[in-house]
Amino acid sequence: MTYEGELSTVDIMIVGAGVAGLATAVSLHAAGFNRVTVFEAEPQLRPHGLGLNILPNAVRELAELGLLDELQQHAVRTRELAMYNPRGDLVWREDRGTLAGYRWPQLSISRARLVTVLADEVRRRLGDSAVVTDARLVGLHSEPGRAYATVMDRDGSTRVVETELLIGADGVHSAVRAAFYPAEGPPPSNGVTMFRGTAWGPEFLTGSTMAVLGDDRRRLVLYPIDRDDTPGRCLINWVAAWPDSEADALQRDAAGVAERRAAVLRQFGSWAPPGVDLPRLLGDTADVQQYSMIDRDPVPQWSFNNVTLVGDAAHAMYPAGSNGATQAIVDARVLSWHLATHTEVGSGLRAYEDERRPQMTELQHANRSMGPEKVITLAHQRAPHGFDDVSEVFSEDELTEISRGYARTGQFDQDWVNSRPSLTVDRRQRDPRDDSSGAGGATDTEAVKETSFITAVIRAMEHDRADAYLVDRYAALLSTPRSRRMADAALAVGGTIGSVIVRARFGDIALFEAAADGIAQVVCLGAGSDTRAWRLALPARTRFFEIDLPGQLEAKERLLEPVRDQLACRRVSLGEDLRRETWPQRLLAAGYEPDSPTVWIIEGLLPYLQIEDFTRLIGTVRKMSTRGSVLLVDAPHTDFYTDPVNETFLTFMKSRGSAFQLGFDDLGDFLRHQGWTAEAYTLRQLHAGECPWLPSPPERLCPPHDHHWVARAHVS
Ligand SMILES: Cc1cc2nc3c(=O)[nH]c(=O)nc-3n(C[C@H](O)[C@H](O)[C@H](O)COP(=O)(O)OP(=O)(O)OC[C@H]3O[C@@H](n4cnc5c(N)ncnc54)[C@H](O)[C@@H]3O)c2cc1C
Repeated sequence: MTYEGELSTVDIMIVGAGVAGLATAVSLHAAGFNRVTVFEAEPQLRPHGLGLNILPNAVRELAELGLLDELQQHAVRTRELAMYNPRGDLVWREDRGTLAGYRWPQLSISRARLVTVLADEVRRRLGDSAVVTDARLVGLHSEPGRAYATVMDRDGSTRVVETELLIGADGVHSAVRAAFYPAEGPPPSNGVTMFRGTAWGPEFLTGSTMAVLGDDRRRLVLYPIDRDDTPGRCLINWVAAWPDSEADALQRDAAGVAERRAAVLRQFGSWAPPGVDLPRLLGDTADVQQYSMIDRDPVPQWSFNNVTLVGDAAHAMYPAGSNGATQAIVDARVLSWHLATHTEVGSGLRAYEDERRPQMTELQHANRSMGPEKVITLAHQRAPHGFDDVSEVFSEDELTEISRGYARTGQFDQDWVNSRPSLTVDRRQRDPRDDSSGAGGATDTEAVKETSFITAVIRAMEHDRADAYLVDRYAALLSTPRSRRMADAALAVGGTIGSVIVRARFGDIALFEAAADGIAQVVCLGAGSDTRAWRLALPARTRFFEIDLPGQLEAKERLLEPVRDQLACRRVSLGEDLRRETWPQRLLAAGYEPDSPTVWIIEGLLPYLQIEDFTRLIGTVRKMSTRGSVLLVDAPHTDFYTDPVNETFLTFMKSRGSAFQLGFDDLGDFLRHQGWTAEAYTLRQLHAGECPWLPSPPERLCPPHDHHWVARAHVS
């Protein structure tokens, strides 16, 4: 393709310097991309906008980019969402941010402030020339590996920019999106008009509450977005929304501030937001803005050649549930992560879209039914004249389910936000399969990490057999070249595979039985390469805690990244050394419920522990277990250490820094002395069919020299 006139070249071109575009520029730089340029239509970067909310999942991203402290200087940490009927009767309240158990706060902030902080950071990281203003995209051509953008300034002059990657962050009226969906037309409106403004006034409710009032047609939203030095005073952001068809709907362009204010008062003058003098707040509002409530239909594709979409350009949605800026920031981080961890731009874009588009499509649909705010509509329909107590209108379960369901849709429930792997690209680990770190000089901890993936290699080998006793299709993803080499070496010196395969099948069946009995809490100690949270169809409500040495679970998460969306249950990972006594506190802080029956899994861990560490560990587990809890554990038999056939293998493990040391004459007896009712079997006993609920493992998995115990125990 040839162009006449001015042609310039940039590596990565971002169109639009709003929240999505600027957050993408910062995130790309943090992920190792240094040649990024943002093109903005406006002649100057003069940030506009009133209040918006950033939910903890996106605040986590901003914190990881190092921006949280600066943002918090002019923002409010929202602590509560409270919904009311027009009389001010409370329909629903819930804690938000850190009070709700997130590790990061929810921030209410002005869009102008957010854009300013992001723009300053772009310039600091990438230089002043990284933001080009007065450059509106008016034309786009893409082909494999390249894109050509035509940009126009306010005088009508155009130039063409050639780029290897173009990211459309140009908002709900996106020109980039229009290039691929030319017939889409303007964004559809739901027939609701919003009036918005800000004014300084006295704090209300907790001082950090987002209050939403409504009937079946109208909404009034109020929340503080800033404070100054005057105690008890805050900048209140308000939004009033009602259907266009109401008699006093105004012509958007014709009305002045006074008319808009009067229109809001006609609709809401009799409403009673707790602690707020509404007429006064409106009177103090200097500028009242008017917008139609618009969104976009979900589209089947965001990426075309080397062009993709982020933020509102990709998935504009109604402003219910505070997701506009939140999801734009998450897009920025996820896109940057995938571009940095894939060798091809195309596969990075595919991974980004595969991860984000289905979630955002679901959220766009959820927002069309106004997310959790539908409780207000229901409250009005069920009790149009108000109520004394919300229990007259809803059952507790009904309310909780509405809110929880919505949180899951956007993947921002607490466990997920707190424990999911970071999207910060550690440049030393850009390719998780990189084998360049060398095999020598492993510390004890590193040796355990390697060994843990050896067991995944063994499970992957079993999975590939026609007569497999264990199915684990995720194990292959954990089979790094290095762990495969180690597994080959261990097997070559007489290492056995039976204990790994049999205990896994034993544990799978026992776990399923426990889940069928209603146990919905699992703790896997030394979770290393365990893939059960992904591969077993456990009930979605199951909380699956994994604890292992710091770094171990992150290594696993990176390798399982391609199947991240296949997690069957709610997984929480904790990096802790189980020989130290800090892990129970961490587990409790992460939401472990000591009064709920639990399945504890301790597999492949014991050979590496001293007897006193093991006894203390089992004792702690017992203390943390309520009646009905189950323990699944395995350990070598003492004969393993004295059988001459195993000598070479034991010497090999010792030379790797992973000495096997612990064994039991009778594991069942040991557990019974620790307060458990136990059934314990050697592999030979299992092969002989002595366990009534386990299909007998074949001889090849239970050779005579593999002296090993597996046990299931209950709290007696
Ligand atoms: C002026 C403005 C005020 C807003 N105020 C609020 C608010 O008060 N509360 C709230 O919740 N949300 C507000 N929003 C929306 C909110 O910012 C977004 O929903 C969300 O943050 C997602 O951001 P985004 O970057 O995808 O889109 P936007 O924030 O809309 O940013 C898009 C950017 O692209 C630029 N642009 C558009 N077309 C082109 C083009 N052809 N070429 C180059 N650049 C282009 C725009 O000028 C803008 O800077 C506002 C948006 C804008 C543009």
